[in-house]
Amino acid sequence: MIPGPIEFEPAVMQAVGMATTSHVAPNFIESFGHSLEMMREVWMAPSGQPFIMAGTGTLAMDMAGSNLVEPGDRALVISTGYFGVRYAELLKRYGAGVTLLTAPVGEVVSPQKIEAELQRGQYKLMTFTHVDTSTAVMVDPEPLGRLGEKYGVLTILDGVCSVAGEEIRQEEWKIDVVLTASQKAVGVPPGLALMVVSERAMQAWRQRSSPAGNYYCDWTHWLPVMKAYEERRPAYFGTPAVNLVCGLEVSLGLILKEGMEARFSRHRRLGGSFREAMKSMGIRMIPVSDEVSANTLSAPLYPEGVSAAGFMKEIAASDVILAGGLLPEMKDRYFRVGHMGAVTTGDIVTTVNAIETALKNCGYTVSYGGSPEELPQDIEPLRRC
Ligand code: PMP
Repeated sequence: MIPGPIEFEPAVMQAVGMATTSHVAPNFIESFGHSLEMMREVWMAPSGQPFIMAGTGTLAMDMAGSNLVEPGDRALVISTGYFGVRYAELLKRYGAGVTLLTAPVGEVVSPQKIEAELQRGQYKLMTFTHVDTSTAVMVDPEPLGRLGEKYGVLTILDGVCSVAGEEIRQEEWKIDVVLTASQKAVGVPPGLALMVVSERAMQAWRQRSSPAGNYYCDWTHWLPVMKAYEERRPAYFGTPAVNLVCGLEVSLGLILKEGMEARFSRHRRLGGSFREAMKSMGIRMIPVSDEVSANTLSAPLYPEGVSAAGFMKEIAASDVILAGGLLPEMKDRYFRVGHMGAVTTGDIVTTVNAIETALKNCGYTVSYGGSPEELPQDIEPLRRC
């Protein structure tokens, strides 16, 4: 139950375990092309340009940054935790003048504040993290996409902890780049960097006056490869992660079979149930309200008297795996629970039970604050917990 790598569907693991074929073999060309097509549906970006790369989420951030930034460009980075800071550092490497707007821990930067900053500066692009995995804070991307459109600023959404879990309607919300990695809600072992890019961003890239500052990431190399695979022709720039792409084809198929709306609502229901369970035990979370809480992961704070070391030792003795805190300044004050992808109600109940037992063993008296009558209808299974 960590926020990635998550647990993967057996059918995905089976596909990943197949005999590795040539990257230009007909069966692989079909898997790659079909995966690109399905990405448009999962991202809800029917006219976007998908990219599938060997690499991690940080490579996806690098690819968007290096292709869209030229030295001297201005970039606005909205930070709700660790990964916002990473994006600011990354963009500076490509010569961007970066303004970082940082939310207090557990909160978001208001669209009003962002709009005021966009009015002040001549920004070429703006980045924001949909769900920052260090804080479990969720930003509403829709108004920010529209602000980008209003001010002619390219928008990049770090969706590493949200794509295929949280609601994203890339094209409708006017977001230029939505990027992620395979090991989270997309449901494939680590090793793929994925993104869909709008025509507006591709146009901005075509108008560059200098080549992208990163040789490997340069879309000049990769765009023809993506186009070729989609047209079911062989192509090469760097050897693709053949087995992972085969897993991706299976996972995207399963995601679309569930249906995007059903998937969003399952994540909302399970994330909401987990938060209610914590609340009922008197546990506070890093996000200050439900409105800014992610559904793909949660970040509960340790109650007074419970130490990170003591709690984690108890959890290690259970059959649930949780993650520690990530924000350097307060990493021993909270823990993180992933609940994305193939997660089920049973997983949530087991996890809540393990947390409750660990807290009790650490000397915390669980005092149930919420009576069952106060709990929403959709957390019925947790009433029995
Ligand atoms: N952004 C966010 C929001 C993330 O959660 C992560 C990984 N946890 C990254 C970026 C970086 O991804 P990776 O570790 O795959 O490079």
